[in-house]
Amino acid sequence: MTPKKVRDLFSRLQAQNPTPKSELDYVNPYTLLVAVVLSAQATDKGVNKATAPLFKKVKTPQAMLKLGLEGLKDYVKSIGLYNAKAANIIELSRLLIERHAGQVPQDREALQALPGVGRKTANVVLNVAFGEPTMAVDTHVFRLANRTGLAKGKTPEDVEAGLLKATPKEFMDHAHHWLILHGRYICTARNPRCQDCIIRDLCGWDEKTG
Ligand code: SF4
Repeated sequence: MTPKKVRDLFSRLQAQNPTPKSELDYVNPYTLLVAVVLSAQATDKGVNKATAPLFKKVKTPQAMLKLGLEGLKDYVKSIGLYNAKAANIIELSRLLIERHAGQVPQDREALQALPGVGRKTANVVLNVAFGEPTMAVDTHVFRLANRTGLAKGKTPEDVEAGLLKATPKEFMDHAHHWLILHGRYICTARNPRCQDCIIRDLCGWDEKTG
């Protein structure tokens, strides 16, 4: 995609939604981290339903350890893979206290050293909690970047590198959210809503619908 088209694409997504927000509910960086860990292969809506009562009671790693593994499982058992996710959350809470005085570190390496935290989760936390211009590539962003031609790649890491290179600086703060929301609601995996798509004329996908 040409730089002019890339700029047009982000300008339109920006005009439509100037200050996009994460659809995951959280009250501080720690609860954001917990919510993102819970959201792997689950919907944000399902995670929010489980965390609404949890985050009323638990807002810190110390409170999470007090709640304990079985207590946590009770709150999150409606979420897929909850056993493994709950175990990771208890262990990462312990490590946050041990290594980071109970705070979520603003550091990719330190985040990725926590159980259940991969590159994508670290990118979300760095962007949403700390305002860093990172690019988390999930399934929606991956699909949209490849279809449009914004950043083609075979792996999330390839696409992340392509997006970081292609995205003009002034759009970086919100680029991840614009792409995720467009991929989630318009450029869906099945039956993308090309007829309603505001970037249709910029999109390079040969199989557009409608
Ligand atoms: S035109 Fe269709 S394929 Fe292209 S970005 Fe829009 S919804 Fe996706």
